[in-house]
Amino acid sequence: MDFTVPQETQALCRQLEQFMEEYVYPLERSRERWVLQEGGPPYPPAIRAAQQKAKELGYWAFYLPKEAGGAGLPFMQYVFVNEILGRSPIAPVVCGSQAPDSGNAEILWRFGTAEQKERWLRPLVEGEIRSCFSMTEPEVAGSDPRLLRTTAVRDGDEYVINGHKWFTSGAHGAAFAIVMALTNPERENPYLRYSMIIVPTDTPGFRIARGVPVLGDDDNHHAEIWYENCRVPVTNRLGEEGMGFVIAQERLGPGRIHHCMRWLGMAQRAFEMMCRYANQRFAFGSTLARKANIQDWIAEARAEIQAARLVTLHAAWKIDTEGAHAAREEISLIKFFGARMLHNVVDKAVQVFGAAGVCDDLPLSHFYRQARLARIYDGPDEVHKMVVARRILQAYAPESSTGGGDT
Ligand SMILES: Cc1cc2nc3c(=O)[nH]c(=O)nc-3n(C[C@H](O)[C@H](O)[C@H](O)COP(=O)(O)OP(=O)(O)OC[C@H]3O[C@@H](n4cnc5c(N)ncnc54)[C@H](O)[C@@H]3O)c2cc1C
Repeated sequence: MDFTVPQETQALCRQLEQFMEEYVYPLERSRERWVLQEGGPPYPPAIRAAQQKAKELGYWAFYLPKEAGGAGLPFMQYVFVNEILGRSPIAPVVCGSQAPDSGNAEILWRFGTAEQKERWLRPLVEGEIRSCFSMTEPEVAGSDPRLLRTTAVRDGDEYVINGHKWFTSGAHGAAFAIVMALTNPERENPYLRYSMIIVPTDTPGFRIARGVPVLGDDDNHHAEIWYENCRVPVTNRLGEEGMGFVIAQERLGPGRIHHCMRWLGMAQRAFEMMCRYANQRFAFGSTLARKANIQDWIAEARAEIQAARLVTLHAAWKIDTEGAHAAREEISLIKFFGARMLHNVVDKAVQVFGAAGVCDDLPLSHFYRQARLARIYDGPDEVHKMVVARRILQAYAPESSTGGGDT
Protein backbone atom coordinates (compact mmCIF):
# COMPACT_ATOMS: atom_id res chain seq x y z
CA MET A 1 0.00 0.00 0.00
CA ASP A 2 1.37 3.39 -1.00
CA PHE A 3 0.80 6.21 1.50
CA THR A 4 2.47 8.89 -0.63
CA VAL A 5 0.31 11.90 -1.39
CA PRO A 6 -0.15 11.98 -5.20
CA GLN A 7 2.38 14.28 -6.94
CA GLU A 8 -0.20 16.67 -8.41
CA THR A 9 -1.94 16.94 -5.04
CA GLN A 10 1.35 17.68 -3.27
CA ALA A 11 1.98 20.71 -5.44
CA LEU A 12 -1.60 21.94 -5.05
CA CYS A 13 -1.44 21.50 -1.26
CA ARG A 14 1.79 23.49 -1.00
CA GLN A 15 0.33 26.34 -3.05
CA LEU A 16 -2.88 26.26 -1.07
CA GLU A 17 -0.97 26.45 2.22
CA GLN A 18 0.73 29.56 0.86
CA PHE A 19 -2.67 31.00 -0.11
CA MET A 20 -3.96 30.34 3.42
CA GLU A 21 -1.02 32.27 4.89
CA GLU A 22 -1.48 35.23 2.54
CA TYR A 23 -5.24 35.54 2.23
CA VAL A 24 -7.11 33.42 4.77
CA TYR A 25 -5.40 33.58 8.19
CA PRO A 26 -5.11 37.40 8.03
CA LEU A 27 -8.91 37.53 7.60
CA GLU A 28 -9.25 35.46 10.75
CA ARG A 29 -6.94 37.78 12.61
CA SER A 30 -8.85 40.84 11.45
CA ARG A 31 -11.68 39.45 13.62
CA GLU A 32 -14.29 40.86 11.31
CA ARG A 33 -17.42 39.35 12.80
CA TRP A 34 -19.75 38.04 10.14
CA VAL A 35 -23.34 38.45 11.26
CA LEU A 36 -25.73 37.25 8.57
CA GLN A 37 -28.51 39.65 7.66
CA GLU A 38 -31.76 39.27 5.78
CA GLY A 39 -31.53 41.17 2.52
CA GLY A 40 -27.84 41.88 3.20
CA PRO A 41 -24.99 41.11 0.78
CA PRO A 42 -24.12 37.41 0.65
CA TYR A 43 -20.51 38.05 1.73
CA PRO A 44 -18.66 40.91 3.47
CA PRO A 45 -16.24 42.89 1.22
CA ALA A 46 -13.05 41.41 2.71
CA ILE A 47 -14.26 37.87 2.03
CA ARG A 48 -15.38 38.88 -1.46
CA ALA A 49 -11.86 40.10 -2.26
CA ALA A 50 -10.27 36.85 -1.06
CA GLN A 51 -12.84 34.84 -3.03
CA GLN A 52 -11.88 36.74 -6.16
CA LYS A 53 -8.24 35.79 -5.65
CA ALA A 54 -9.19 32.15 -5.00
CA LYS A 55 -11.12 32.08 -8.28
CA GLU A 56 -8.21 33.57 -10.22
CA LEU A 57 -5.92 30.87 -8.85
CA GLY A 58 -8.39 28.06 -9.54
CA TYR A 59 -8.94 27.26 -5.85
CA TRP A 60 -12.67 27.36 -6.31
CA ALA A 61 -15.39 24.74 -5.64
CA PHE A 62 -12.85 21.90 -5.60
CA TYR A 63 -15.63 19.37 -4.95
CA LEU A 64 -17.75 20.10 -8.05
CA PRO A 65 -17.19 18.62 -11.52
CA LYS A 66 -15.53 20.98 -14.01
CA GLU A 67 -18.64 21.04 -16.22
CA ALA A 68 -20.55 22.43 -13.21
CA GLY A 69 -18.03 25.22 -12.64
CA GLY A 70 -15.82 23.51 -10.05
CA ALA A 71 -12.29 22.12 -10.01
CA GLY A 72 -13.47 18.49 -10.25
CA LEU A 73 -11.08 16.90 -7.75
CA PRO A 74 -11.63 13.19 -7.07
CA PHE A 75 -12.46 12.46 -3.42
CA MET A 76 -9.04 10.92 -2.76
CA GLN A 77 -7.35 14.20 -3.71
CA TYR A 78 -9.99 16.35 -2.10
CA VAL A 79 -9.26 14.77 1.33
CA PHE A 80 -5.80 16.38 1.34
CA VAL A 81 -6.98 19.69 -0.06
CA ASN A 82 -10.00 19.89 2.22
CA GLU A 83 -7.87 19.11 5.27
CA ILE A 84 -5.95 22.30 4.49
CA LEU A 85 -9.19 24.28 4.08
CA GLY A 86 -10.39 22.87 7.40
CA ARG A 87 -7.54 24.61 9.22
CA SER A 88 -9.53 27.83 9.11
CA PRO A 89 -13.31 28.24 9.42
CA ILE A 90 -13.11 30.99 6.78
CA ALA A 91 -11.23 28.99 4.14
CA PRO A 92 -14.18 26.96 2.78
CA VAL A 93 -16.10 30.23 2.32
CA VAL A 94 -13.14 31.89 0.59
CA CYS A 95 -12.74 28.89 -1.72
CA GLY A 96 -16.45 28.48 -2.58
CA SER A 97 -16.78 25.15 -0.83
CA GLN A 98 -18.82 25.86 2.30
CA ALA A 99 -21.87 24.06 3.61
CA PRO A 100 -24.74 24.18 2.94
CA ASP A 101 -24.04 25.69 -0.51
CA SER A 102 -21.71 22.86 -1.52
CA GLY A 103 -24.35 20.20 -0.78
CA ASN A 104 -27.07 22.21 -2.51
CA ALA A 105 -24.86 22.75 -5.56
CA GLU A 106 -24.17 19.03 -5.77
CA ILE A 107 -27.84 18.05 -5.80
CA LEU A 108 -28.78 20.86 -8.19
CA TRP A 109 -26.07 19.61 -10.50
CA ARG A 110 -27.18 15.99 -10.27
CA PHE A 111 -30.96 16.37 -10.10
CA GLY A 112 -31.78 19.89 -11.32
CA THR A 113 -33.47 20.70 -14.62
CA ALA A 114 -31.65 22.88 -17.15
CA GLU A 115 -33.77 25.81 -16.03
CA GLN A 116 -33.03 25.22 -12.32
CA LYS A 117 -29.33 24.97 -13.08
CA GLU A 118 -29.32 28.24 -14.96
CA ARG A 119 -31.39 30.12 -12.41
CA TRP A 120 -29.96 28.71 -9.15
CA LEU A 121 -26.85 26.59 -9.66
CA ARG A 122 -24.86 28.93 -11.90
CA PRO A 123 -25.02 31.99 -9.58
CA LEU A 124 -24.53 29.74 -6.54
CA VAL A 125 -21.35 28.23 -7.91
CA GLU A 126 -20.16 31.66 -9.01
CA GLY A 127 -20.59 32.84 -5.40
CA GLU A 128 -23.05 35.54 -6.45
CA ILE A 129 -25.71 34.17 -4.10
CA ARG A 130 -25.93 31.90 -1.05
CA SER A 131 -28.49 29.21 -0.23
CA CYS A 132 -29.78 27.15 2.68
CA PHE A 133 -31.16 23.70 3.36
CA SER A 134 -34.37 23.54 5.38
CA MET A 135 -35.21 20.15 6.80
CA THR A 136 -35.05 20.03 10.62
CA GLU A 137 -38.17 21.01 12.61
CA PRO A 138 -38.32 21.89 16.30
CA GLU A 139 -41.44 19.83 17.02
CA VAL A 140 -40.12 16.42 15.86
CA ALA A 141 -36.86 14.45 16.12
CA GLY A 142 -34.61 15.49 13.24
CA SER A 143 -32.81 12.15 13.58
CA ASP A 144 -35.92 10.42 12.26
CA PRO A 145 -36.92 12.51 9.23
CA ARG A 146 -39.98 10.34 8.56
CA LEU A 147 -41.62 12.45 11.28
CA LEU A 148 -41.26 15.78 9.44
CA ARG A 149 -44.56 17.71 9.30
CA THR A 150 -44.02 20.49 6.76
CA THR A 151 -46.42 19.94 3.87
CA ALA A 152 -46.37 20.93 0.20
CA VAL A 153 -49.88 20.56 -1.24
CA ARG A 154 -50.37 20.68 -4.97
CA ASP A 155 -52.70 23.43 -6.25
CA GLY A 156 -52.72 23.48 -10.05
CA ASP A 157 -49.20 24.30 -11.20
CA GLU A 158 -48.07 25.30 -7.73
CA TYR A 159 -47.14 23.83 -4.37
CA VAL A 160 -48.49 25.52 -1.26
CA ILE A 161 -45.97 25.01 1.54
CA ASN A 162 -46.78 25.23 5.25
CA GLY A 163 -44.47 24.33 8.10
CA HIS A 164 -42.01 25.33 10.76
CA LYS A 165 -38.26 24.71 10.45
CA TRP A 166 -35.24 25.60 12.50
CA PHE A 167 -31.47 25.30 12.30
CA THR A 168 -31.71 26.28 8.64
CA SER A 169 -28.06 27.36 8.45
CA GLY A 170 -27.25 30.42 6.38
CA ALA A 171 -30.89 31.42 5.73
CA HIS A 172 -30.32 35.11 6.50
CA GLY A 173 -29.20 36.68 3.23
CA ALA A 174 -29.68 33.46 1.24
CA ALA A 175 -31.40 33.69 -2.15
CA PHE A 176 -33.23 30.37 -1.85
CA ALA A 177 -33.93 27.47 0.47
CA ILE A 178 -34.19 23.84 -0.51
CA VAL A 179 -37.09 22.66 1.64
CA MET A 180 -37.94 19.08 2.54
CA ALA A 181 -41.74 18.77 2.57
CA LEU A 182 -44.40 16.07 2.68
CA THR A 183 -45.95 15.73 -0.79
CA ASN A 184 -47.19 12.15 -0.86
CA PRO A 185 -48.60 11.18 2.57
CA GLU A 186 -50.64 8.36 0.98
CA ARG A 187 -47.58 6.28 0.09
CA GLU A 188 -46.89 3.20 2.20
CA ASN A 189 -43.13 3.68 2.28
CA PRO A 190 -42.46 6.76 4.48
CA TYR A 191 -39.16 7.32 2.68
CA LEU A 192 -41.06 8.00 -0.56
CA ARG A 193 -43.42 10.62 0.87
CA TYR A 194 -41.21 13.72 0.83
CA SER A 195 -39.91 16.03 -1.89
CA MET A 196 -37.25 18.70 -2.06
CA ILE A 197 -38.57 22.03 -3.29
CA ILE A 198 -36.67 25.22 -4.10
CA VAL A 199 -38.22 28.20 -2.33
CA PRO A 200 -36.83 31.66 -3.17
CA THR A 201 -36.50 33.55 0.12
CA ASP A 202 -38.46 36.51 -1.26
CA THR A 203 -41.55 34.30 -1.75
CA PRO A 204 -44.50 35.72 0.21
CA GLY A 205 -45.04 33.49 3.27
CA PHE A 206 -41.32 32.74 3.79
CA ARG A 207 -40.69 34.27 7.21
CA ILE A 208 -37.53 34.13 9.26
CA ALA A 209 -38.65 34.27 12.90
CA ARG A 210 -35.13 34.65 14.33
CA GLY A 211 -31.52 33.59 14.21
CA VAL A 212 -31.17 30.78 16.73
CA PRO A 213 -28.34 31.64 19.13
CA VAL A 214 -25.91 28.73 19.45
CA LEU A 215 -23.43 28.26 22.33
CA GLY A 216 -23.31 31.97 22.97
CA ASP A 217 -23.11 32.99 19.30
CA ASP A 218 -25.96 35.19 18.09
CA ASP A 219 -24.64 35.77 14.58
CA ASN A 220 -27.80 34.51 12.81
CA HIS A 221 -26.00 31.54 11.32
CA HIS A 222 -28.94 29.23 12.06
CA ALA A 223 -32.50 30.39 11.37
CA GLU A 224 -35.94 29.50 12.60
CA ILE A 225 -38.36 29.82 9.68
CA TRP A 226 -42.11 29.71 9.17
CA TYR A 227 -43.47 28.70 5.78
CA GLU A 228 -46.98 30.17 5.67
CA ASN A 229 -48.93 29.41 2.50
CA CYS A 230 -45.72 29.80 0.52
CA ARG A 231 -46.56 29.28 -3.15
CA VAL A 232 -43.94 28.14 -5.62
CA PRO A 233 -44.28 26.62 -9.12
CA VAL A 234 -44.23 22.82 -9.34
CA THR A 235 -41.21 23.24 -11.59
CA ASN A 236 -39.26 24.22 -8.44
CA ARG A 237 -39.30 20.59 -7.28
CA LEU A 238 -35.97 18.77 -7.45
CA GLY A 239 -36.28 15.36 -9.10
CA GLU A 240 -39.42 13.24 -9.05
CA GLU A 241 -42.17 13.73 -6.49
CA GLY A 242 -41.45 11.70 -3.33
CA MET A 243 -37.72 11.38 -4.05
CA GLY A 244 -36.63 13.84 -1.36
CA PHE A 245 -34.92 11.27 0.85
CA VAL A 246 -33.20 9.56 -2.05
CA ILE A 247 -31.73 12.92 -3.04
CA ALA A 248 -30.96 13.74 0.61
CA GLN A 249 -28.81 10.63 0.87
CA GLU A 250 -26.89 11.77 -2.20
CA ARG A 251 -26.44 15.16 -0.55
CA LEU A 252 -25.67 14.14 3.00
CA GLY A 253 -23.28 11.27 2.23
CA PRO A 254 -20.59 13.30 0.45
CA GLY A 255 -21.44 16.31 2.67
CA ARG A 256 -20.58 14.33 5.78
CA ILE A 257 -17.23 13.26 4.47
CA HIS A 258 -16.49 16.86 3.44
CA HIS A 259 -16.96 17.78 7.11
CA CYS A 260 -14.71 14.92 8.25
CA MET A 261 -11.91 16.07 5.96
CA ARG A 262 -12.13 19.57 7.42
CA TRP A 263 -12.19 18.29 10.98
CA LEU A 264 -8.81 16.72 10.28
CA GLY A 265 -7.42 20.14 9.38
CA MET A 266 -9.02 21.79 12.41
CA ALA A 267 -7.68 19.08 14.73
CA GLN A 268 -4.24 19.20 13.10
CA ARG A 269 -4.01 22.95 13.60
CA ALA A 270 -5.12 22.67 17.24
CA PHE A 271 -2.55 19.90 17.68
CA GLU A 272 0.27 22.01 16.22
CA MET A 273 -0.71 24.94 18.42
CA MET A 274 -0.77 22.67 21.47
CA CYS A 275 2.70 21.26 20.75
CA ARG A 276 4.24 24.70 20.16
CA TYR A 277 2.71 26.14 23.29
CA ALA A 278 3.66 23.12 25.44
CA ASN A 279 7.26 23.70 24.44
CA GLN A 280 7.13 27.36 25.53
CA ARG A 281 4.92 27.52 28.61
CA PHE A 282 6.85 27.11 31.85
CA ALA A 283 5.33 26.04 35.18
CA PHE A 284 6.55 24.16 38.27
CA GLY A 285 10.18 23.90 37.17
CA SER A 286 9.78 22.83 33.53
CA THR A 287 7.95 23.49 30.31
CA LEU A 288 4.55 21.86 29.94
CA ALA A 289 6.12 19.63 27.30
CA ARG A 290 8.15 17.91 30.03
CA LYS A 291 5.08 16.87 32.02
CA ALA A 292 4.09 13.25 31.55
CA ASN A 293 0.36 13.88 31.24
CA ILE A 294 0.88 16.49 28.50
CA GLN A 295 3.09 14.04 26.61
CA ASP A 296 0.34 11.46 26.98
CA TRP A 297 -2.22 13.88 25.50
CA ILE A 298 0.08 14.71 22.61
CA ALA A 299 0.73 11.06 21.76
CA GLU A 300 -2.98 10.20 22.05
CA ALA A 301 -3.98 13.18 19.91
CA ARG A 302 -1.48 12.24 17.20
CA ALA A 303 -2.82 8.67 17.18
CA GLU A 304 -6.45 9.82 17.01
CA ILE A 305 -5.82 12.29 14.17
CA GLN A 306 -3.88 9.75 12.15
CA ALA A 307 -6.50 7.02 12.71
CA ALA A 308 -9.29 9.40 11.64
CA ARG A 309 -7.26 10.45 8.58
CA LEU A 310 -6.84 6.86 7.44
CA VAL A 311 -10.51 6.02 7.97
CA THR A 312 -11.46 9.18 6.04
CA LEU A 313 -9.13 8.26 3.19
CA HIS A 314 -10.61 4.78 3.08
CA ALA A 315 -14.15 6.21 2.89
CA ALA A 316 -13.02 8.59 0.12
CA TRP A 317 -11.45 5.72 -1.79
CA LYS A 318 -14.67 3.73 -1.52
CA ILE A 319 -16.76 6.70 -2.76
CA ASP A 320 -14.37 7.18 -5.70
CA THR A 321 -14.39 3.48 -6.62
CA GLU A 322 -17.91 2.29 -5.70
CA GLY A 323 -20.02 5.43 -5.18
CA ALA A 324 -21.56 7.16 -2.16
CA HIS A 325 -24.31 4.59 -1.67
CA ALA A 326 -21.88 1.68 -1.34
CA ALA A 327 -19.82 3.71 1.13
CA ARG A 328 -22.70 4.38 3.53
CA GLU A 329 -21.22 2.38 6.39
CA GLU A 330 -17.79 3.97 5.97
CA ILE A 331 -19.35 7.44 5.88
CA SER A 332 -21.31 6.83 9.10
CA LEU A 333 -18.19 5.38 10.73
CA ILE A 334 -16.07 8.42 9.97
CA LYS A 335 -18.88 10.84 10.86
CA PHE A 336 -18.99 9.82 14.54
CA PHE A 337 -15.33 8.78 14.78
CA GLY A 338 -14.08 12.02 13.18
CA ALA A 339 -16.34 14.21 15.32
CA ARG A 340 -15.16 12.48 18.48
CA MET A 341 -11.53 12.80 17.42
CA LEU A 342 -12.00 16.53 16.83
CA HIS A 343 -13.70 16.94 20.17
CA ASN A 344 -10.94 15.08 22.06
CA VAL A 345 -8.04 16.81 20.34
CA VAL A 346 -9.43 20.34 20.65
CA ASP A 347 -10.41 19.74 24.27
CA LYS A 348 -6.82 18.83 25.14
CA ALA A 349 -5.43 21.79 23.18
CA VAL A 350 -7.76 24.15 25.06
CA GLN A 351 -6.62 22.65 28.37
CA VAL A 352 -2.93 23.09 27.53
CA PHE A 353 -3.55 26.76 26.73
CA GLY A 354 -5.43 27.35 30.00
CA ALA A 355 -7.42 30.59 29.98
CA ALA A 356 -5.98 31.56 26.58
CA GLY A 357 -7.58 28.39 25.18
CA VAL A 358 -11.10 29.61 25.90
CA CYS A 359 -10.40 33.22 24.89
CA ASP A 360 -11.71 34.21 21.46
CA ASP A 361 -8.32 35.78 20.58
CA LEU A 362 -7.25 32.30 19.45
CA PRO A 363 -9.14 30.07 17.00
CA LEU A 364 -9.30 27.28 19.62
CA SER A 365 -12.49 28.50 21.28
CA HIS A 366 -14.20 28.55 17.87
CA PHE A 367 -12.88 25.05 17.15
CA TYR A 368 -14.22 23.88 20.48
CA ARG A 369 -17.71 25.11 19.60
CA GLN A 370 -17.45 23.47 16.20
CA ALA A 371 -16.32 20.21 17.78
CA ARG A 372 -19.37 20.07 20.02
CA LEU A 373 -21.74 20.88 17.16
CA ALA A 374 -20.07 18.30 14.93
CA ARG A 375 -21.41 15.53 17.14
CA ILE A 376 -24.99 16.64 16.40
CA TYR A 377 -25.37 18.09 12.89
CA ASP A 378 -25.70 15.83 9.86
CA GLY A 379 -26.88 13.11 12.23
CA PRO A 380 -25.94 12.75 15.91
CA ASP A 381 -23.24 10.22 16.93
CA GLU A 382 -25.83 7.74 18.18
CA VAL A 383 -27.66 7.56 14.84
CA HIS A 384 -24.46 6.89 12.89
CA LYS A 385 -23.42 4.23 15.39
CA MET A 386 -26.86 2.66 14.95
CA VAL A 387 -26.39 2.59 11.14
CA VAL A 388 -22.96 0.98 11.46
CA ALA A 389 -23.93 -1.51 14.15
CA ARG A 390 -27.11 -2.62 12.35
CA ARG A 391 -25.16 -3.37 9.19
CA ILE A 392 -22.50 -5.28 11.07
CA LEU A 393 -25.04 -7.27 13.06
CA GLN A 394 -26.95 -8.14 9.88
CA ALA A 395 -23.90 -10.01 8.66
CA TYR A 396 -23.85 -12.08 11.84
CA ALA A 397 -27.58 -12.84 11.95
CA PRO A 398 -28.36 -16.62 12.11
CA GLU A 399 -29.84 -16.69 8.59
CA SER A 400 -26.85 -14.85 7.09
CA SER A 401 -24.39 -16.97 5.12
CA THR A 402 -21.54 -14.51 5.78
CA GLY A 403 -21.67 -14.72 9.56
CA GLY A 404 -18.70 -17.05 10.04
CA GLY A 405 -18.66 -20.17 12.20
CA ASP A 406 -17.62 -18.90 15.63
CA THR A 407 -20.21 -18.41 18.32
C1 LIG B 1 -24.75 23.66 14.01
C2 LIG B 1 -25.91 22.95 13.39
C3 LIG B 1 -26.25 23.22 12.07
C4 LIG B 1 -27.35 22.61 11.50
N1 LIG B 1 -27.71 22.93 10.20
C5 LIG B 1 -28.84 22.43 9.68
C6 LIG B 1 -29.29 22.84 8.39
O1 LIG B 1 -28.64 23.66 7.71
N2 LIG B 1 -30.46 22.35 7.93
C7 LIG B 1 -31.22 21.46 8.64
O2 LIG B 1 -32.26 21.05 8.16
N3 LIG B 1 -30.81 21.04 9.86
C8 LIG B 1 -29.66 21.49 10.41
N4 LIG B 1 -29.24 21.11 11.66
C9 LIG B 1 -30.08 20.19 12.42
C10 LIG B 1 -29.48 18.80 12.57
O3 LIG B 1 -29.44 18.13 11.35
C11 LIG B 1 -30.28 18.08 13.66
O4 LIG B 1 -30.01 18.74 14.87
C12 LIG B 1 -29.97 16.62 13.76
O5 LIG B 1 -30.46 15.91 12.65
C13 LIG B 1 -30.59 16.02 15.03
O6 LIG B 1 -31.96 16.30 15.11
P1 LIG B 1 -32.58 16.94 16.44
O7 LIG B 1 -31.77 18.13 16.81
O8 LIG B 1 -34.02 17.13 16.22
O9 LIG B 1 -32.31 15.87 17.58
P2 LIG B 1 -33.22 14.60 17.91
O10 LIG B 1 -33.48 13.83 16.67
O11 LIG B 1 -34.37 15.01 18.71
O12 LIG B 1 -32.21 13.76 18.80
C14 LIG B 1 -31.84 14.18 20.12
C15 LIG B 1 -30.81 13.21 20.65
O13 LIG B 1 -31.42 11.93 20.76
C16 LIG B 1 -30.44 10.93 20.60
N5 LIG B 1 -30.87 9.98 19.58
C17 LIG B 1 -31.54 10.23 18.42
N6 LIG B 1 -31.74 9.11 17.73
C18 LIG B 1 -31.20 8.11 18.48
C19 LIG B 1 -31.07 6.71 18.30
N7 LIG B 1 -31.58 6.10 17.20
N8 LIG B 1 -30.44 5.99 19.25
C20 LIG B 1 -29.95 6.61 20.37
N9 LIG B 1 -30.02 7.92 20.56
C21 LIG B 1 -30.64 8.66 19.65
C22 LIG B 1 -29.15 11.62 20.19
O14 LIG B 1 -28.27 11.72 21.31
C23 LIG B 1 -29.59 12.99 19.76
O15 LIG B 1 -28.59 14.00 19.94
C24 LIG B 1 -28.14 21.69 12.26
C25 LIG B 1 -27.77 21.41 13.58
C26 LIG B 1 -26.69 22.03 14.15
C27 LIG B 1 -26.34 21.71 15.58
